Amino acid sequence: MIAEFHFDQKDRAVYEREFAARLPHRILDNHIHIWTRECLTIPRSAYAVYKTYKPWTDYDFMEEFTLEDCENLAGTILPDRRLDFSYFGLPFPQIDREKSNAYVVSHATACRRAFYYMPGQFEDVSAVGESLLQNPYFVGLKPYPDLVQGGGDRAGIYDMLNRSALEFADRHDLVVILHIPRKGRMRDAENRRELLEIIRTYPHIRLIIAHVGRAFCYADVEGTIDFLKDFENVSFDTAFVQDADVLAYLMRLVPSEKIVFGSDAPLAYARGKDVVINNRHYYATEHPAPWGIAPAKEGFVDFTYYFYEQLRALLFASKSVYGAKEERHLENIFYRNALRLMGEKGEKIYA
Ligand SMILES: [Zn+2]
Repeated sequence: MIAEFHFDQKDRAVYEREFAARLPHRILDNHIHIWTRECLTIPRSAYAVYKTYKPWTDYDFMEEFTLEDCENLAGTILPDRRLDFSYFGLPFPQIDREKSNAYVVSHATACRRAFYYMPGQFEDVSAVGESLLQNPYFVGLKPYPDLVQGGGDRAGIYDMLNRSALEFADRHDLVVILHIPRKGRMRDAENRRELLEIIRTYPHIRLIIAHVGRAFCYADVEGTIDFLKDFENVSFDTAFVQDADVLAYLMRLVPSEKIVFGSDAPLAYARGKDVVINNRHYYATEHPAPWGIAPAKEGFVDFTYYFYEQLRALLFASKSVYGAKEERHLENIFYRNALRLMGEKGEKIYA
């Protein structure tokens, strides 16, 4: 669970005032990390070391996040909606990838939710492929740069997604949610070259570019994702993007059929906002954390969830791009597209 989660009158007021009338009746969150503390490979005494890097390796802050945690929180902050979920593990070296995958597979299957498998760098995916394909809840792959030896900064797309994984995904029309690696993100020439090659070589992969290509600031998105706009099998997810300019840019660039909502839970349920200062993004946090920026004085700020800040930015962008006719577009973004990408399996899982 996220430390100190609570839902109070002020949060409810935000929901009622800003979201209740405009959010679709149905929401499918297609970007959720779940794991249990048994998946951690480090002892509690080492948490202090890893928490300095990023919220995702701050295990004092979030030691585990179970499927039940997720569904309880979503039901709390999004009342009166039909909520659906799809899951994957937490892809960091401090988490045992196999245990994390095993938890996701067994738990999502038992609860009848779609899930994505995290492939390893050198794993022959065809070896586990058969049993995954037999599972009616398996919909795709979620590779990640931090699972690559030598650290996330050095990873290229082929390190995250080897030939066996690409061929497997292509052969079976799978969804692949791709976290763009390398510091330069979509501006990196190698990333662009690899992406184009993969899209052309494996045309049946249903690619979802996570976090709009890791564009958390307008400077990250302007002119950088345009080369992907005409590929039919390339969509973008909005996970953790809280900058309305980024989302409006995306909405103007591609049809709403190519935009998929995801929250990036559990961090989405913490209080704060991803803020942009001088073309860099920072986690503004309610309480001081080594990976965030926070006021030194207690009680100085009045924050709601990152999740709500995402909805706020998305709805703001929607109004400016789609105007009064936003309803159909928002339904596409919030559930129809993810369902369609999952194909027949999605129809059955979420019938
Ligand atoms: Zn994520």
